[in-house]
This record gives sequence, structure tokens and C-alpha cells, in this order.
Amino acid sequence: MIIKNVLVYGEDETFHQGEVIVENGKIVTEAVDKNDVVDGQGGYVIPGLVDIHFHGCVGADMCDGSAEAIDKIARYEASIGVTSMAPATMTVSEEELHGIMKTAAEHPNQVGAKLVGINMEGPFISEAKKGAQAAEHIRKCDVELFHALQKDAAGLIKLVDIAPEIEGAMEFIDAVKDEVAVSIAHTEADYDTAKKAFDRGARHVTHLYNAMPAFSHRAPGVIGAACDTERCRVELICDGVHIHPSVVRTTFQMFGSDRMIMISDSMRATGLTDGEYTLGGQPVFVKGNLATLKDGTIAGSATNLMDCIRVAVKDMGIPLETAVKCATMNPAKEIGIYDTCGSILPGKDGDLVILNQDLSLQAVYVGGVKQ
Ligand SMILES: [Zn+2]
Repeated sequence: MIIKNVLVYGEDETFHQGEVIVENGKIVTEAVDKNDVVDGQGGYVIPGLVDIHFHGCVGADMCDGSAEAIDKIARYEASIGVTSMAPATMTVSEEELHGIMKTAAEHPNQVGAKLVGINMEGPFISEAKKGAQAAEHIRKCDVELFHALQKDAAGLIKLVDIAPEIEGAMEFIDAVKDEVAVSIAHTEADYDTAKKAFDRGARHVTHLYNAMPAFSHRAPGVIGAACDTERCRVELICDGVHIHPSVVRTTFQMFGSDRMIMISDSMRATGLTDGEYTLGGQPVFVKGNLATLKDGTIAGSATNLMDCIRVAVKDMGIPLETAVKCATMNPAKEIGIYDTCGSILPGKDGDLVILNQDLSLQAVYVGGVKQ
């Protein structure tokens, strides 16, 4: 297959007039059948998106713990342009976590977006900043539990989220930092505590600004400590609800585009109509882009990652080239799958999205297969 008449997003992070060839599921330089042509109608070809933090969509949630839920999520994600996904678990019971990890490890990955990882959001978080996480299942950092879950998941856990101020956090970082990306999340930590965690090996921040103290001039907190840690990448929810557009622009300047990862943090109502749903067992009310608990706490988002790109580009003034990088290359690098996806390069999987000039979707391919 040759995709022609398109602007191709290159490894140099800009668009070039060109073509993309896919054979046997991989991006290649030479077409077998020169007549197998797709006309991209002057649109853009970008790498398939990689969402490393979201909970669910179209009525399904990773925490449902079923193969059907993962398939449902994978189909929807592929339909909107996400081709690789690392859905997040919530703070649920230990028993449920074991079940979810086992189901993920056994998942055959036959439809839609590829299940490439799991982002373990909780239970090692701060009760004071729990957001929509269930308080009764929050616990202190537990290396043994993490290793047992990672074994159940057959190594699929790529990110583990912790609050660095809770008991055992620093020792936890020491123990697992070489096998998983430790992310600072749902925390009350001040600058010094967060900096210590980064110096010990944490290298990621979960939904920067959300569920953590604000960045203020005498108390820079996790946000300042993350910025001061060169190898640390940070997640940002650009759905137009979680973060003010001005803060989004400032954050891109502050961290630089190499260190920003766009995530959707979407919950099960995404792709459905307004109404009452659940997240981690708690009721959530969805109206438009806004998903909240009864008390008004924001509970995940109701926006998919492709829509976050559109919001960032059209409403927030983030260049398309930058948004694409932060939703493809950077997350792929962060969870260690950049050798197979995250950019358009011969040898990588044929995971591609064709967008029209107005950023509406024209086609999505996972491993060269049209979705
Ligand atoms: Zn969260």
C-alpha cells in the first residue's frame, strides 16, 4: 500500500510532502504492488497516537477486568486514531488488581489499538489528593505487591504512580526504578520531597497540575521539582477542562516539547452521551467535556486523545507538529516502545493516521490494517 498526496510527519518533527509505504504490516521503502495506492487528498499522515493514561471509553473501563472491556476500548481507540494504548488502573482492591493484570496479560490483542502497557494509577497515593480514587483502597508503597502484580501482568505495567510523601515511597523507588517508570501522582509533596523522589529515580509526573499542590512562587512543589529534573517527562490533559489554555502554553515553554506527554485520562463515558457513569466504583456525572463526582471533583475526562490534539492546536495555540510529537513519539519513548512505533520510519509497525487539513479523521491503520 502506498499512501500518496499527503504531508508526512517525519522523524525531524516537521511535515514534508511525500508518501508512506506499508507492506506486511510494516513501514517499508519499496512497494510490492505499485497500483495499491491510497489518495490522502492533501491531508496529513501522522504516527498512530499512543495514549499512556486513560481509563476507558464507550461504556468500558480497564478496571472492569474483562477481555470484552479491553476489546471494546481497543476498537474505539483505534477508531479515533489511537493505535497503541497503556490504559490506567484505578485505586481498587488488591484482589481486583490481580484480576485486571491477569486479564491484560492473557489478552490476545486481536482487534483495534494494541495493548502495549498498563499505567498503575494507585493504590500507592495520598488520601488528601485522591481526586476520584477510592479512599478505602489507598495503601502505603508496597514493593512486594507491585512485583506480584507485575508478574500477573507479565511485565505489562510500564508506569507506576506514587505519592512520594507516603510511607515507604523512597525505598519503593529504589527497588523498582530500573524495571518501570515511577511517576509522581495524587500527592501533597513539597518541592524537597518531590526532588528527592526524582533524584532517587522517579522520572514521570501523572497529569501535571491535577491532584497536586499548585506551582507557586515560594512553594514550587512537584511541578518545580519536575522542571528541575531534566530527564523527567510530564503528562498534561489538554481537553480544555483540566488546564487553562494559558497554563498549557506556559507549560510547553517551561518544559520544552521533548518532555511533554499529552494524555486523555478519558473515562468510560467517552464516546457516549451525557449522563451518569462510574469510575473506580464511584458515580460520575458527565456533561459535555466535563466529568465530575457528586461534590464537583473532576473525575477523569470525557475527551479522547485525538480531540485533545484538536483542542490544543485549534483552541490553545499549540503547533500541530508539537502536539503530534507529544501524543506519539514522547509517550512511545517513555514506555519503551519507540523501536516499533511512535514515528514513521521504515521497519516500524504500519500504525498510521491520515488527517484532513481541518484535522478531521480520514483513515486509521494499525499494523497496516485499516480500522
Ligand atoms: Zn488521576
